[in-house]
Amino acid sequence: MTETAERLHRLPRYLFAEIDRQIAAARARGVDVISFGIGDPDLPTPAPVVDALEQAAREPENHRYPSYEGMPAFRRAVAQWYARRFGVELDADTEIIALIGSKEGIAHISWCFVDPGDMNLVPDPGYPVYAAGTLLAGGTAYPLPLLPERGFLPDLQAVPAEVARKAKILFLNYPNNPTGAVASLEFFQEAVAFARKYDILICHDAAYTEVAFDGYRAPSFLQTPGAKDVGIEFHSLSKTYNMTGWRLGWAAGNRDAIEALGRLKTNVDSGVFQAIQYAGIQALQAPPELMSATLQAYDERRRLLAEGLRRLGWPVQAPRASIYFWIPVPHGYTSTEFSSLVLDKAGVFLTPGIGYGEHGEGYMRLSITLPTQRLREGLKRLEEAGIRYA
Ligand SMILES: *Cc1c(COP(=O)(O)O)cnc(C)c1O
Repeated sequence: MTETAERLHRLPRYLFAEIDRQIAAARARGVDVISFGIGDPDLPTPAPVVDALEQAAREPENHRYPSYEGMPAFRRAVAQWYARRFGVELDADTEIIALIGSKEGIAHISWCFVDPGDMNLVPDPGYPVYAAGTLLAGGTAYPLPLLPERGFLPDLQAVPAEVARKAKILFLNYPNNPTGAVASLEFFQEAVAFARKYDILICHDAAYTEVAFDGYRAPSFLQTPGAKDVGIEFHSLSKTYNMTGWRLGWAAGNRDAIEALGRLKTNVDSGVFQAIQYAGIQALQAPPELMSATLQAYDERRRLLAEGLRRLGWPVQAPRASIYFWIPVPHGYTSTEFSSLVLDKAGVFLTPGIGYGEHGEGYMRLSITLPTQRLREGLKRLEEAGIRYA
């Protein structure tokens, strides 16, 4: 067999493959592992959305190739949703493109703007796809540390001018995976000014804007004055409507960037199954109450987890948005060592922060996408095994 390409070797070795191996080994020993590791909604897609798919799937006209950029009706539904939810005006024809899940667009956007030798500014810790897409396009990911003293917002003023001048894309993601942090419009304003100064495209990943608690309403980056001049926002039905398996998302904002992404995509994929787009329209047009039960369940789990961790000595604040707790590792362990210890002693899996970048070291990510009963049981096991923060 021929050698794999250099670009494949540049991809980081996926820590999560090793983790899967550890969990599988524990299960093979008969341990009923409770995993706080999975960032994937466990609750079902709402029934009206499934019904819309079923109906649309029976229509032969939906069995053919869809349009590359997404059906006009889907893009209009996205535009109307942005207007209603954020007060943001978008032209459905030129400022929105459908994606096969937002991950697809996030991975491809670097191919549109990054040449070998270019740099992207990438949050660290962060969703691994920002750096992977950068590397595949031949670029270098320059890490922006997300640290607690800055509320897990990057310090843009600390980026050296020679790096900023070489940078093509600045990736941002609020509400944030993995830290659960949120950003204000003032921060987005600062990012827009930075992007203008250095001619950088901002790619804001807004996957978690609708998963928020205690009355918090996450802003869209596109609400910022001037945002559309310098950036786009990735969004998705995955977390908002429990639709991770359906693969439907979009990018919206700057029309030149949307056009570029569309041009690339016509060469690599053929769009999203129209029946899924019809289901997406159903979801986007539904009243927000469609998701109240899911948000209530998350809220209950989030309170339980915050209380349980505090009992074990952790200095935690429940996140205002997202499905993640980002908690410090007890002194004397790396995040990987602590994760292995907890798995061995308690049969509970917590994700080591190092999996999200160098600055994720010293933290663990816990997700609330497991049934409430399992979450309680997991906390009980940690307590019984004497896993404490010290
Ligand atoms: C889950 C997630 C997404 C959503 O990906 P899809 O491809 O739309 O399912 C995007 N960004 C982040 C940070 C996520 O955690």
